[in-house]
Amino acid sequence: MKTVRTIAELRTALGEARPGLVPTMGAFHQGHLSLIRAARAENDVVVVSLFVNPAQFGQSEDLARYPHDERRDGALADEEGVDLLFAPPREEIYPAGFQTWVEVEELSKPLEGVFRPRHFRGVATVCLKLFNITRARRAYFGQKDAQQVAVIKRMARDLDLDLEIRVLPTIREEDGLALSSRNVHLSAEERETALALPRALQAHDRSLLNGLEVDYFEEADFEPRVLAAAVRVGKTRLIDNVVIEEGAPT
Ligand code: AMP
Repeated sequence: MKTVRTIAELRTALGEARPGLVPTMGAFHQGHLSLIRAARAENDVVVVSLFVNPAQFGQSEDLARYPHDERRDGALADEEGVDLLFAPPREEIYPAGFQTWVEVEELSKPLEGVFRPRHFRGVATVCLKLFNITRARRAYFGQKDAQQVAVIKRMARDLDLDLEIRVLPTIREEDGLALSSRNVHLSAEERETALALPRALQAHDRSLLNGLEVDYFEEADFEPRVLAAAVRVGKTRLIDNVVIEEGAPT
């Protein structure tokens, strides 16, 4: 695996290849690895991007304490047979004078959008840049971030992007907690408390979140339809969702 930090180096390494791309912010867990494995199985060339995108964090959010360990992530990506790890510095993605943003207007407003007003603008913009930089043929996302998937799919349709968006199921711990880079911030006690989130979603029962600070617990008409929730456990904000099966009780 080769690690590259500039767009020019990445383009040179790719040549004419149109890769499978897995966009990430690092701190890899099995959720990331499942996307990487799918990309590896479906593409001749696999690029993983590692970029903690400041544009998708609000001012009071956890950008500064977002976990990162590029050495560990690089070793894991290498083991999975990734060809190129694209780990650019901030200025490579947002050079001085940067001022062009992608807004997926309606889908960005509810749920996460209420609590993170410019989040999806940052996500859509960085993803479009990564798609263009890599000229990806396919890009891989987790259902864990269901609204993100909806926003990216809409952008791909609206802007006629020539790539396929592939979505993989949410990977969970045995007890049901969805894997997240932010789980490292949970104390043992908070981790126990956090289990209420998958349980409430699974049971479609908001009352299981009583005592927790709930940002939302709502159905969303994405494809597929989901029940999505966000809660705060101590200083850590967790999101999760379950797909609502056709015909299943809601
Ligand atoms: P992140 O590094 O948190 O931005 O996540 C990178 C990609 O991994 C996104 O497409 C996420 O939806 C996906 N992802 C994060 N957690 C999980 C999980 N538990 N299961 C499946 N995919 C995940």
